[in-house]
Amino acid sequence: MGAALDALVDEALRTGALAALPDKHLIGGKQFPSARGGRMETFDPGRGESFATFAAGTAEDVDAAVRAARAALKGPWRRMPPAERGRILARAAALLRAQADRFAVVEALDAGKRISEAQGDVAGAARAFEYYAGACDKLQGDSLPLARDYLGYTVWEPAGVAALIVPWNYPISTTARCLAPALAAGCSAVVKPAEQTPLTALMLAELLLEAGLPEGACNVVTGTGRDAGAPLVAHPGVDHVTFTGSVATGIGVMQAAAPNVTRVLLELGGKSPVVVLADCDMDKAVEGVLGAIYENAGQICSAGSRLVIDRGIHQAFVERLVGRVRAMTVGHGLRDADVGPVNSKRQLERVAGFVDGAKERGRRVAVGGARAVDPETGKGWFFQPTILDDVPADDPVVQEEIFGPVLTVQVFGSIEEAAALANGTPYGLVAGIYSRDLSKEHALARDIDAGQVYINEYFAGGIEVPFGGTKRSGFGREKGLEGLRSYCRVKSVVARI
Ligand code: NAD
Repeated sequence: MGAALDALVDEALRTGALAALPDKHLIGGKQFPSARGGRMETFDPGRGESFATFAAGTAEDVDAAVRAARAALKGPWRRMPPAERGRILARAAALLRAQADRFAVVEALDAGKRISEAQGDVAGAARAFEYYAGACDKLQGDSLPLARDYLGYTVWEPAGVAALIVPWNYPISTTARCLAPALAAGCSAVVKPAEQTPLTALMLAELLLEAGLPEGACNVVTGTGRDAGAPLVAHPGVDHVTFTGSVATGIGVMQAAAPNVTRVLLELGGKSPVVVLADCDMDKAVEGVLGAIYENAGQICSAGSRLVIDRGIHQAFVERLVGRVRAMTVGHGLRDADVGPVNSKRQLERVAGFVDGAKERGRRVAVGGARAVDPETGKGWFFQPTILDDVPADDPVVQEEIFGPVLTVQVFGSIEEAAALANGTPYGLVAGIYSRDLSKEHALARDIDAGQVYINEYFAGGIEVPFGGTKRSGFGREKGLEGLRSYCRVKSVVARI
C-alpha cells in the first residue's frame, strides 16, 4: 500500500471514521440537506458501529433532483457535442484514478469491503468512465435501404432522465456501470444509492462536476428505498429506471413504473452455479470456486454460490476446498483479511437463518457454519466462510439467494444432469464451467440458461462484456456497447424525396 492509502486506513481504524465525508444530497450541482430535515446513520460493518450521518431524502428532494435533471437535459447537456461529453467522462476517469485511495477507503469503511477489493472496484469504476468516454461519439445510426424515392435513417437519442437505483454490495462500481453509459448516451441522471452505503455515489457526483459535467446532469438523492427510491421510480419526470437489487423490490419497481409507462432495466439476484467436470485443472478450479463465493463475503449478485461437481472428484475436491477455507482469515476489511464482514446486522441474521435452517434439516456443514467477530476488536457483523455439502436440489439453501459466504455443493453423474442442476433454480444470471474439454464446455454454455457464462475463470472479462440476467435475475443489459444502447432510444426518420 502507498503512504497516502496507509494514512487513510490508519485514520479510519484509529478514529472509527474519516474526516470531511459528504453528507447532503447533490441536486443541480449544489449540496442540499433534506427538505424535511431528516438524517440517517451509516455503519462500519467491520465494527458494527455508526460512523457518519447523511441526508434522509423524501419525495420533495426527489422532485427537486428530477427537475434539475430535466433542466440539464433540455439545456447545456443536450447541446454539448458528443466528443465533448467524452472528454468530460475521460477527465472523470483520470480524477477517479488520482483520488482512488480516498474512494477505496471510504468504500471499504461504508460497505465493509476488503481494502484490496475496494481498490479493484474503484479502478473498475474509472475504467467504466474511460470505456464509455470513447463511445460517446460512436453512437451511429443506420441508413435504411428503402425504395429509390425514399431516404431513411435511424438516430440513437438519449432515453432522457434516468433514475439509477443502486444496492449496497458494490456501491461505486454499480453506480459507475449505469451512470457512465447513461451520461455517454446523453441522458441526465438521478442516482439513489442504498441507504447502507451512500457515500461514494455522492463523492463521484462531486468529482463529475470537477471534471466539467454541467450542473444537474448528475444528481444524487440519499435515503431509504421507501422514502426516496419509491417516489423516484414513480416520478412522471423520469424516462428510464435502472434498478439493481433484490427480486422482490424489482417487481415492485416494475409495477411502480408502469402507470407512467416508464421503461425499466432490472438487474436482480442470482444463484449461480459453478460446474466442475472431472477433467478440469483441479488447482485452477479450486481457486476459481473459492474466489467465486468468498469475494466480498459472498455478497455478489453473480457469486458462484452453488458448486455443481462431478461425482468422480466430489470428495477430493471438497476436501481441498475445506483445507483452503480453514486457512482463511476473517476480519475488518481495512486490515484486508481474506473474508470481510457482511454489510448489515439484518443481512447477518439472514445468512445465519439460512445456515441454521440447513442444519436443522440435517444438511452436512463441511466447514464454517457460524457467526464470527473481528479478532482485533471482538466486534462486527461476520459469518464464517461456509460449505454445505451434497445438498438436495430442492433445499432452500440451493434455491434461494443467501447473499453471504455460503457455498452449497450439488453432485452430478452425467453432463445432462450437470446442466439440469445448473438450470434448476429460478435465477439465470451467471454460470461458471471448469473443464479441459472444449466441446463439453461449449455444450454446457449452450444448454445453461444464464445471461453470461465464464469458462475456466469465474468473473472473467470486464466492462467490455455485456451483463444481465434471464429468468428472475432480470432483463436488459449493462456493460459493453449493449449497456450504452440501454440508455438510448431509436428514432427512425423516413423522407419522400
Ligand atoms: P434491495 O432491493 O433491498 O435494495 C436495492 C436498492 O433499492 C436500494 O437502493 C434501496 O434503497 C432501493 N429500494 C428499496 N425499496 C425500493 C422501492 N420500493 N422503490 C425503489 N427503490 C427501492 O436490495 P439490496 O438488499 O440492497 O441488494 C441486494 C440484492 O441486489 C441481491 O438480491 C443482489 O443479488 C442484487 N444485486 C443484483 C445485481 C445485478 O447486477 N444483477 C448487482 C448487485 C446486487
